[in-house]
Amino acid sequence: MHKHERRSVWELSLLAIVGFFAILAIAVVGLRVHQREALRNTASIVRSDTRPPAWTHMHVVDMKGHSLRARDLRTHTINGQIPEAGAFDTIHPHGVPELVYYMNVDGRLYALTQRRQTVWNVAPHLMLLLIIVYWGLYVLLMLLWRVRSKHLRAEIQSIARNFQQIRRNEPTQQLLLTPHSRLYPIAQAAQDLAQQLTTTRQDAQMRRARFDRLMQNLPQGVMLIDDARNVQITNAAMAQMLGKSIQPVVHPYVDDIKDYHLTKMVEKALLKGKVQRRELDLSETERSVEASVVPIGVGNNRSQVLIILYDLTYLRSVERMQTDFVANVSHELKTPITAISGFAETLLGGAKDDPAVLTQFLQIIAKEAARLTQLVNDIITLQRGGTDRHLETISVRQAVEQALQNVAGTIKKRQLHVETIVPRELHVRVDAPRLTQVLHNLIDNAVFYNRDGGAITVSTLREENQLAIIVRDTGIGIPAAEQARIFERFYRVDKARSRNNGGTGLGLAIVADAVNDLNGKIQLTSQPGRGSTFTVTIPVAFTEPLQ
Ligand code: ADP
Repeated sequence: MHKHERRSVWELSLLAIVGFFAILAIAVVGLRVHQREALRNTASIVRSDTRPPAWTHMHVVDMKGHSLRARDLRTHTINGQIPEAGAFDTIHPHGVPELVYYMNVDGRLYALTQRRQTVWNVAPHLMLLLIIVYWGLYVLLMLLWRVRSKHLRAEIQSIARNFQQIRRNEPTQQLLLTPHSRLYPIAQAAQDLAQQLTTTRQDAQMRRARFDRLMQNLPQGVMLIDDARNVQITNAAMAQMLGKSIQPVVHPYVDDIKDYHLTKMVEKALLKGKVQRRELDLSETERSVEASVVPIGVGNNRSQVLIILYDLTYLRSVERMQTDFVANVSHELKTPITAISGFAETLLGGAKDDPAVLTQFLQIIAKEAARLTQLVNDIITLQRGGTDRHLETISVRQAVEQALQNVAGTIKKRQLHVETIVPRELHVRVDAPRLTQVLHNLIDNAVFYNRDGGAITVSTLREENQLAIIVRDTGIGIPAAEQARIFERFYRVDKARSRNNGGTGLGLAIVADAVNDLNGKIQLTSQPGRGSTFTVTIPVAFTEPLQ
């Protein structure tokens, strides 16, 4: 039995006892009033010689007589207070209490006495029955109460179990309560609550998943820091920008952010509660970012800050490339223009009168003008990039031969041995101008950076839906350290030599752009003094040769 149940039992028992004695007291008082009334009524009909029936236990006592009761009554009134007619008194002859009523009979004082009536001597059987019924009822009620409270306890326990299951997010059991049960509305409410909570939890989970997905796919680096300077939320972009993996548990933000300027911005935002914004080069990853640190108030003077990093690295590098390009173009254009104007001025200054010098200077001017044209053409090609596509079916062998034809003069002059291993029937559907550009530039370089009497081999390899074009030369080769850079715009390994060849430093940059436009790859293997091999692999559609 539970403590509170035990207390209830005690309280009910106490109530039953109090009730029992209250009934008893009412009965006793009632009997007393009744006995007094009976004595008074009897007294009105009593004469001096009246003998009441024995069963009434009444006695008519002459106050001046010699009976035991008369003596008792007289002793009882010793203190000089002589009883008066109509008054009540109590005596105890033989130790038995008797009620006395004083009366006047024929001018003399008499007393009418009767054994004091109690519930026991008036109706002992009735009394016994009353006690049995009363306490029997009490026991019965207690038993019923016990059974009921046990049942109630079981119901409460199962509802409590349901609430615990709801709290632990476990499936709840269907409660077997009748609609008449006092707890039925609570059980019903628990079921409704469980259902509502499940929906709310699912909704929250869905929102959380959506939020996580959004955060993880945001291109901006995001980090939420609380007032204890701990990381609450962060995302993959932030880890990438900081160049380290960020623990998914709550931890101090300084574990992740080591950049002095960014830390200063966070501290300032936390301290002053003002938005901080500036462009930074992160010390860890050397990335250029636009950092915003936004304080977010969450009440009670507690504040959080949100760091948002926009990666500007690509933008800045494009800007830098553009600036470099413009600087390079200006520089490259300046050289032939200076030469042209220099020689023209010298000629105008009088040198034109010497036919030999005139011819020599005009040749130089013509060569520099050609270089200028080549430069401008290359720049235009680069700038135009992959804007328009010209898909057409071409013969690869013809395209190679055309490229070789363009440099036939130099090939002949330098006595180069050329070998073309390209099947005649090889036809592909491809962006032809781009492919032609690639072939021209690679073959040009294979000719110009070759040694006299060297060899050039142009071959192709056909794979499933890919075509590899291999241009091999036996020229000067490219040192390993330079190989990664030669595709940059205006980059030249040997500047003087390249210029002599009329090179602009843009040929391979154009090749790289074109291969990129063709969705292909370019590979280089080279050994200084032995030669170079450029392999371009592009996805193409092979077609039957056109009739
Ligand atoms: P350029 O107009 O100067 O030839 P490119 O972009 O075509 O410019 O080439 C860049 C540099 O790469 C050249 O200056 C040269 O030093 C080197 N290079 C290119 N192709 C070859 C090759 N086949 N053999 C050796 N060096 C080469």
